Amino acid sequence: MLWILGSLFFLYCACREIRNSLWPAPGYALPIPVTPSYLALVLGLAVIFAWPPIHTGYFQWFLSAKATELAEHRAKVHCNTLFDTMLDPEMLAAGHASPVTGKIILQKPWCEVLMDYLSHPQRASEKELWSLGMFTHESMHVRGEMDEAKTECQAVQRNYRAAKLLGVPDAIARQNALDYYNNGYQERGRIGGMQSAYYSGECSPGKAMDEHLPDSTWATD
Ligand SMILES: [Zn+2]
Repeated sequence: MLWILGSLFFLYCACREIRNSLWPAPGYALPIPVTPSYLALVLGLAVIFAWPPIHTGYFQWFLSAKATELAEHRAKVHCNTLFDTMLDPEMLAAGHASPVTGKIILQKPWCEVLMDYLSHPQRASEKELWSLGMFTHESMHVRGEMDEAKTECQAVQRNYRAAKLLGVPDAIARQNALDYYNNGYQERGRIGGMQSAYYSGECSPGKAMDEHLPDSTWATD
């Protein structure tokens, strides 16, 4: 919001400069010619201030379209700002979603982490792989599953599909999804406590939670 206000302010400065060059400003007999450097500066600042909300808005739209495909149900992704996160009753959860409204909330800074992942998937960090897992996990909630262990297992099997939908090249998407399954996911089982609610020993190839998806993360071609 502050970015948009900043951008509008600089746009106003640019309009005022142009208007004063066409018609005399109050108290002046003649129009004042435009100062090109000033006009370029305020227009530049208007664009710079407009960029973050436009960029986030585009990313939210992009994620919403991909989450809708994954969930086979209309999804709407919102990237919370720090302020949104502070006001969110579920601020302690990194993300949450509702199958009723289709709304997916990703808390600060997880949208930025996901953006970083997509900019260099071939050298994804563990945290960046978590952001992919979280995006798929919340999409599975929108699909209708609310049991955390089942939701996470559905996500684990679809992280390969999710990464490809987000534009990651095939081989890298498969490797990223397998890395998350072999490391981040297994870690949840080892840590125990709250994390164990997201883990099941049945979530592995051939076991009870295997959905036998043709493009499963763990499918062997
Ligand atoms: Zn969940």
